Amino acid sequence: MTRIAFAFGLALLIGFPWQSSHAQDKPGIERLYILYCADGVAGDISYWSPGVNVGKTMDFSVNCYLIKHAQGWLLWDTGVADAVAAMPGGLPPTNPRLTHYRRTKTLASQLDQLGIKPSDIKYVAVSHTHPDHVGNVALFSQSMLLVQKAEYDWPALGNGGPRFKPEHPVTKFEGDHDVFGDGSVTIISTPGHTPGHQSLIVKLRKTGAVLLSGDAVHFKDNWENRRVPEFNANRDQSIASMQRIADILVKEKAQLWINHDKVQTDSLKMAPAYYD
Ligand SMILES: [Zn+2]
Repeated sequence: MTRIAFAFGLALLIGFPWQSSHAQDKPGIERLYILYCADGVAGDISYWSPGVNVGKTMDFSVNCYLIKHAQGWLLWDTGVADAVAAMPGGLPPTNPRLTHYRRTKTLASQLDQLGIKPSDIKYVAVSHTHPDHVGNVALFSQSMLLVQKAEYDWPALGNGGPRFKPEHPVTKFEGDHDVFGDGSVTIISTPGHTPGHQSLIVKLRKTGAVLLSGDAVHFKDNWENRRVPEFNANRDQSIASMQRIADILVKEKAQLWINHDKVQTDSLKMAPAYYD
């Protein structure tokens, strides 16, 4: 055996030094918790699926996702405001076709149960600025917001004012954003539902890659039929973003976790259990 052949054989045995191991592909990611962030009943599901199931109600889940990384905690979405937990009848919608939310426990109490204070959260990223996703942003006044510039600059309904408190620390970007710089947690731009809507890819060691939808899609049937809710900000962008997600799912061999799909949420394990 020549020396080169011997070296090659040795490399096959012990692995090439430039080949990263599975663990090194996801350096700092440790675990992901799914937190209960409300539940609701959509009054007329055809508001989300134009012309389909007109007048029918549908149960919605509302989740928040808490990610532990060696560099710190990231909270993805903050759910319906904790104050709703104190309302006996929940929060009725202004329009009966929309969602009636209730909260049986607060986000703060679930963090407390995990031994985490709001000030321990390094980053808060929201998929978009609808009230069922930004309800508790103010609880994390010291956390760095990670948000698309297009969403941050989108004037609020009604008064046209800002969507976030101007004093809240923020990192604004346009497009994708590698949160910890190691490829384990990446925000991806998926506009359409709102101008600066975003989704999240989390590459877990054992579970593999998971794509958190935000509201790029609301439930499985709409996903499979690529339906666009009538109230989305931009229909063409919505369809393009669903296609982008579909392409990423294939490329990353990822699961799609749809935030409001209650049937799917019921099949997943909630905090204090976790995925790693
Ligand atoms: Zn939503």
